[in-house]
Amino acid sequence: MTMTDDVQAKPKQAFDKAALQAKYLAERDKRLRADGNEQYLRVEGHLAHYLDDPYTPVTERAPKTDHVTFAFIGGGFAGLVTGARLVEAGIKDVRIIEKGGDFGGTWYWNRYPGARVDIESQEYSYSFSDALQDDWRWTERYAAQPELLSYLNHVADRFGLRKDIRFETRVASAAFDEAAGRWTVRTDKGDTVSARFCIMATGCLSVTNEPKFPGMETFKGKSYHTGRWPHEGVDFTGQRVGVIGTGSSAIQSIPQIAAQAEQLYVFQRTPNYSVPAHNGPIDAQKVEHWKANRAELRQKARESGAGIVAVEPTELSALAVEAEERKQIFESRWKQGGFAIGGAFIDTAIDPAANATAAEFVAGKIREIVKDPRIAETLTPKSYPFGTKRLCVDTGYYETFNRENVTLVDVSQAPIEAITPTGLRTDDGDYALDSIVYAIGFDAMTGALNAIDIRGRGGMSLKEKWSGGPLTYLGLMVAGFPNLFTVTGPGSPSVLSNMLVSIEQHVDWIADCLAYLGDRQLSVIEASPEAEAGWVAHVNEVADMTLYPKANSWYLGANIPGKPRVFMPYVGGVGVYRELCNAVAAKGYEGFALSGQGA
Ligand code: NAP
Repeated sequence: MTMTDDVQAKPKQAFDKAALQAKYLAERDKRLRADGNEQYLRVEGHLAHYLDDPYTPVTERAPKTDHVTFAFIGGGFAGLVTGARLVEAGIKDVRIIEKGGDFGGTWYWNRYPGARVDIESQEYSYSFSDALQDDWRWTERYAAQPELLSYLNHVADRFGLRKDIRFETRVASAAFDEAAGRWTVRTDKGDTVSARFCIMATGCLSVTNEPKFPGMETFKGKSYHTGRWPHEGVDFTGQRVGVIGTGSSAIQSIPQIAAQAEQLYVFQRTPNYSVPAHNGPIDAQKVEHWKANRAELRQKARESGAGIVAVEPTELSALAVEAEERKQIFESRWKQGGFAIGGAFIDTAIDPAANATAAEFVAGKIREIVKDPRIAETLTPKSYPFGTKRLCVDTGYYETFNRENVTLVDVSQAPIEAITPTGLRTDDGDYALDSIVYAIGFDAMTGALNAIDIRGRGGMSLKEKWSGGPLTYLGLMVAGFPNLFTVTGPGSPSVLSNMLVSIEQHVDWIADCLAYLGDRQLSVIEASPEAEAGWVAHVNEVADMTLYPKANSWYLGANIPGKPRVFMPYVGGVGVYRELCNAVAAKGYEGFALSGQGA
């Protein structure tokens, strides 16, 4: 199938979206090729051919040129708070660039059925503005994607950020001009932005893992990726649907798809541990408690390990209590729901014997919920310790496998061979499908940064520098790349924490750093290679003290063939990490070289 065939096959809409998309893709290809992005284009072309592309109608516009102090990339949670903080500081020369058609980042793209946050809404929200916190009311304990998107749009409007943003615009390259001490950012729409500081708010899970099954181009049905879900939604009524993957995205969407489809096949390679969310309307008493104690609770989150108050970690070893007491503790955490179970005992992430108690508890729950013992067995993880792949939080996931119209297909022993014109073939047989949902995750943490041709001093390529794994100082800056900040970059707690706590901590640190530079008439900050090497060694050392490296997880890049196997996030906890970052700042930005003359 060619792209033209694909476009022609789509039904015409009033505004002829297909023609606009084709024109846009062709133009974009030309520009990106001119910028030397052949490799990226192959990936995009692949998706454009085989998946239902959720791009919103493309607004054609002439290329623009900007000269600003701050350019930042990304209009999700990280980009919005960066923008809002700059507005609050009275800084006006800002340019935001966002590839989506609106604000939202993760919550703009991930619109699959059942998409919702798995940290309680009150905790998964900004703390930087009291007025914002006073005004916004969440309706559910765990907000669903549409509510999160409304929240983010509310923030954008409240802080007047729409005027500073270019939507539907993808950054192709960013290069540091040493003579001028400025970054030149170029986009796929031909824009050029010259900026003193470049802030990457590109997200940790924003570049989808591409499906690369043989025969995909022959499939006659519809194909979707959970991370690029069509904005108009999908109706699976009466369909035979295949979901590939059993990570968080699949675990949230499977119960919803099962309720709609005629028949659902779940193709599972590795089972995941999942705990119930116990979602529902937000509890009025909890809202009052949060309101009355907000400052204290927010501070508690900042000083904690995962940045989540609801986890309530204990100092108790899982091995220091009798089996019955241990079971009761796990049971009460299971009833509480969400990540609370992760805080039940202090040693489940570091001691294999302690970890095994948590694994056995969840295995027992799976056996209780799933009626067919063989299905329960297949759903039970065995190849890695509990919690070392990201824990999933679900609503009725295991229960879904009691439905007549749901079939679990274990592709660990009989792998997926090919996509066929009529469905999917494994080593064991053929499955007839009308739609395929690829819930196969993301090129995490480094994917979005490596998709941009970022060049530092002497034309050094970030992608080449990171060919053996990401190298950063504090996950915030990279030696050889002055004035380039990475919000929740690799080497920071990021994905091992409540992203909101980590994002705000980074943005606070960056804001203080910029004020420090401004006060001293300095204009350039750059990590030293020695500080960077020391930090990378520390990140690895701490990870090796835990059980995390024992799982083939996306934390290690293990889900992307050829990606270096390096544990990317900092596992030391957000509280400890914050202290380390603050200590660096208090010592005059130790490990950084500061130079230049004013902004
Ligand atoms: P994921 O956790 O990486 O899961 C991908 C799934 O696809 C895995 O089960 C993987 O199996 C499977 N897979 C990949 N390639 C495959 C292949 N070739 N054949 C068969 N199976 C294949 O991705 P995700 O579910 O999108 O979640 C990613 C992360 O996003 C989460 O861990 C979480 O941090 C975040 N997320 C958060 C929320 C939330 O807050 N509510 C929701 C969704 C996602 P293997 O395990 O064998 O590789």
